[in-house]
Amino acid sequence: MVVSTRALTDLTRLPGRMVRVGAGVPLAELQRVLAPDGLYYPPVPTYDGAFVGGTIATNAAGAATFKYGSTRRWVEALSVVLADGSLVEIHRGEIAASPEGWFELEYPSGKIVRVPVPTYVMPDVVKLSAGYFARPGMDLIDLFIGSEGTLGIVADATLRVIPLPRRSVVLVTCDSDGQAAAVTAALRREARSSRRGEGALDVSAVEFMDSRALALVVDEAMSRAGIARPVGASVLLLVQIEVTGGEEEALRQMAAVLDACGVHADPQVALPGDERGAARLFELRDAVPAGVNTLVAAAKTRVHPDIEKIAGDLIVPFERLEEALALYRQTFERCGLEYAIWGHVSDGNLHPNVVPRSLEDVHRGKAAILDIARRVVAMGGAPLAEHGVGRSALKQLLLLELYGERGIEEMRAVKRALDPTWKLSAGVLFPEPSSTDRDNGSLV
Ligand SMILES: Cc1cc2nc3c(=O)[nH]c(=O)nc-3n(C[C@H](O)[C@H](O)[C@H](O)COP(=O)(O)OP(=O)(O)OC[C@H]3O[C@@H](n4cnc5c(N)ncnc54)[C@H](O)[C@@H]3O)c2cc1C
Repeated sequence: MVVSTRALTDLTRLPGRMVRVGAGVPLAELQRVLAPDGLYYPPVPTYDGAFVGGTIATNAAGAATFKYGSTRRWVEALSVVLADGSLVEIHRGEIAASPEGWFELEYPSGKIVRVPVPTYVMPDVVKLSAGYFARPGMDLIDLFIGSEGTLGIVADATLRVIPLPRRSVVLVTCDSDGQAAAVTAALRREARSSRRGEGALDVSAVEFMDSRALALVVDEAMSRAGIARPVGASVLLLVQIEVTGGEEEALRQMAAVLDACGVHADPQVALPGDERGAARLFELRDAVPAGVNTLVAAAKTRVHPDIEKIAGDLIVPFERLEEALALYRQTFERCGLEYAIWGHVSDGNLHPNVVPRSLEDVHRGKAAILDIARRVVAMGGAPLAEHGVGRSALKQLLLLELYGERGIEEMRAVKRALDPTWKLSAGVLFPEPSSTDRDNGSLV
């Protein structure tokens, strides 16, 4: 059975900078409706065709997580359809887990279901889309956010919004991973100072594209952005600065950071209000995954139909960023794989992608990502930062790597409590139990 959320498109402004939105509203449409009132919904993934329901289901995050956090932080209430068809309203702050570690959820029929809270400890990273949120005393709403549709279907959500920021976008060319990491670290420090009222350089996002990623971008995207294709070990950083007063002071501080880090190339700048200039720079970023997808599709047609994209979605504590970058490169190079790296570097969240030329590359690529994931977990990071797990066998292995068999079993216990017949998104997050298990009652 397929459930469509296409008709869930209501959008109501609420007092106190809140909006109630149907699950079937795309983020681009939400921002379009908010903008004339000078409002903005901040935790947006770089794909603005995503729907409100999908972004809540995956706890999506975007480039600006460093400033705004992931979707979870912005959700005040949810209407959720549970597996038995009941519609429940869950408001943040209303139902917390008991000290013994469970929720009591009262259904509209009066039935009360006890839901256990998993005991695993989530990695301490700024974004995570890796199965069920779990923390002592947690709020019930957080169990549904990021549950990828396995516990209930989001019908609508009450979201917090903010005044629309004025934004400058700056494209910086660095000559190495080390320089890019140093610039990003300096910009994070400046941003923190500015939020304390010291300085004007309020950076909300820094995105990273290595020269391998840029080699896959069509010429037109490079020339529209007004830059030459970088070579060798160079890296482009796309920096978003939120400007409250005049932009001159923020840009002066930005130039000082680049100077101090030894960046020689002149940056490309789109000033606040220059929407065309900013769009051209964002197009360059969007052209990177598009370029990889084109190559993978061509190999699939020409070489083998089972060739697929092998994409990492890894996050490490920011202090371990350079080490992580070296790990990604060394692992792929040792395995003789073509690859490209891009992503949300201000969060320590990068997407190292294998660009497979053969089916053999696909197998080796999966083994490489699994190897990298183990080391990233050992660094205090996570192999599932923002895209979720879904039905991908590789991502389900990464989830197992993160929380072990016991953690997966604890997630299954949550699923059993809320969806005992495995009706919703079966096979998402972890494999569906066999029908024999279901029939002999071991699931209830
Ligand atoms: C080019 C590109 C860039 C991206 N960049 C980012 C990024 O920067 N950050 C990021 O976090 N993600 C990113 N993503 C991934 C994607 O945008 C997010 O995962 C997004 O949240 C998915 O939303 P969607 O509406 O497309 O959901 P879908 O992909 O349709 O669904 C995702 C999951 O949620 C479930 N679901 C959907 N709607 C509901 C609902 N109403 N109730 C319950 N469950 C539901 C689905 O069953 C599925 O399991 C990117 C994707 C692309 C293609």
